[in-house]
Amino acid sequence: MHTQPFPAAPLPLSVRLRERWAAGIPCSSDVAFAFGVSFIWLALYNVRFWQLSAAAMWHPSAGSVLFMTSLFVLAWVVLALLLLLSPTRWLMRAAASLMFVIAAFGAYFMSEYGAIMNTEMMRNVVQTDPSEVQGLLNADVVLHGVLLGIVPALLVWRVRLPETSWRTQLGQRALAIVVALCVAFGGMFACSANYATFFREHKPVRYTLNPVAQIVSLVGLAAGSGKAKANAPLIDPAGKIERRAATSAKPLVMFLVIGETARAANFQLGGYARETNPELAQISGLTYFSNTASCGTSTAISVPCLFSHLPRSDFKVDAADRYKNLLDSLVQAGFDVQWRDNNSGCKGVCARVTNIDYNQKPDAQYCRDSNCFDAVMLEDLPETLRKIERDTVIVFHQKGSHGPYYSERYPPEFEKFQPACRSNQLQHCSQQEITNAYDNTIAYTDHVLASQIRMLREASSRLDSLLIYVSDHGESLGENGIYLHGMPYAFAPEAQKEVPMLIWTSEGYVRREQLQPDCLRTEARTPVSHDFFYHTVLGAAELRNQVYDRRLDLIAGCRRGGGSE
Ligand SMILES: [Zn+2]
Repeated sequence: MHTQPFPAAPLPLSVRLRERWAAGIPCSSDVAFAFGVSFIWLALYNVRFWQLSAAAMWHPSAGSVLFMTSLFVLAWVVLALLLLLSPTRWLMRAAASLMFVIAAFGAYFMSEYGAIMNTEMMRNVVQTDPSEVQGLLNADVVLHGVLLGIVPALLVWRVRLPETSWRTQLGQRALAIVVALCVAFGGMFACSANYATFFREHKPVRYTLNPVAQIVSLVGLAAGSGKAKANAPLIDPAGKIERRAATSAKPLVMFLVIGETARAANFQLGGYARETNPELAQISGLTYFSNTASCGTSTAISVPCLFSHLPRSDFKVDAADRYKNLLDSLVQAGFDVQWRDNNSGCKGVCARVTNIDYNQKPDAQYCRDSNCFDAVMLEDLPETLRKIERDTVIVFHQKGSHGPYYSERYPPEFEKFQPACRSNQLQHCSQQEITNAYDNTIAYTDHVLASQIRMLREASSRLDSLLIYVSDHGESLGENGIYLHGMPYAFAPEAQKEVPMLIWTSEGYVRREQLQPDCLRTEARTPVSHDFFYHTVLGAAELRNQVYDRRLDLIAGCRRGGGSE
């Protein structure tokens, strides 16, 4: 008797998926793997790179077609080399896995914000704090990270490579590398004039080759900081510090307010048409410097640069930690120095002074979900000022106008310009909504600064005082498709480099220093920069040291008799 076999029941989907997963993705060799993965990156993760390359180099001609083709080959070879040079298969997969994740986030921030993945951007990424990360996270980023990052990063481990001896693998890779380099160099040689223009005139474009740019920049960053740590002893460039005899018995109090991401173009005091400085505009004794250039386009550069004795032209951020800075000179001269931080830390500047971190302070009035408004740093100020007996410097490191979540920088009652963009996804807001939200942050900074000045003024019977405010860098608000900041300085738009700066002096301070009325206001029209900060603060504190440069002291020339003491 024959038994009829049962017709096979269709397998349930879960089983079929499991079988598919177990079978893996077939691939003929390591070389095919490297070039396959690289092709995916080049085609799907490099939209910004191709946009910028085309904008820079494309014109309808045979030469241009040849150049773009050769650029494609060159970029493909560079990406593939990152994988082919991994010594083992396991490392090659691990590298591909990691780079998918890096590339996914890189693609998002380059496309949405016009970000550039240079060393400075990597420094910002490495030095960022949880609240900054939270400010950048949204459903789009997460979805992007999962679909284009995590999923392919896992699939990489399911690629089935043939069992071949290491000799065969090595041979295949070596041959592929030689051929690929020959083809790439051949293309570069054939289009050498185009490449000369491309590399010389359009430098920022190469910082968008995803994910090579991030890897190269991270290696550069690590190499730089490794060098700095190797030479540990602290250098004191300032030497002996001298104090001019004070003409007043009152303690001197200086507030140094380091702003964040405020650009000069949106300051009413500098001529902006909107009322973004309603409170400061009413305050006497205040001088606004309408032409101030920043040292860097990121916090990580500008903050250490401000407190360094070196001008921008000589300043090297990797070496900054090796030098004593402005705060050290103030301490040495006997000042009480305190750093109050509502931003992402002092970038090494406050290493040897009192540091109060206001981030995620459990303060019901000023803080919500690990985000505090800048006024949190002022809460105990009247009390602090009452207790001051000695000369004191307090630095306030603001959160200011830090993006992209501008609407999180000010309490709801300060939403003066409406409708304001209430999202951290700027691409979902209109230009007007973005500008409104940003202007609200400036108006809130106006309120914070005016409050600080009022507090100093109220204490003026006991204290002589002065406030200096300067922003660390500016911000792009979508002009030419560029948002936020951190572009390489040479290519950054003016909006990222032109910052607001102001000096307020109490009447007691004017008498004490014998300042000529209106003198500062005349100086305020000339071009100045972050280079002036170190020397102006030192001079304002009646100090001089070996690196003090009177030409960079904004106040020195305003003392009666030219201030030559
Ligand atoms: Zn900043």
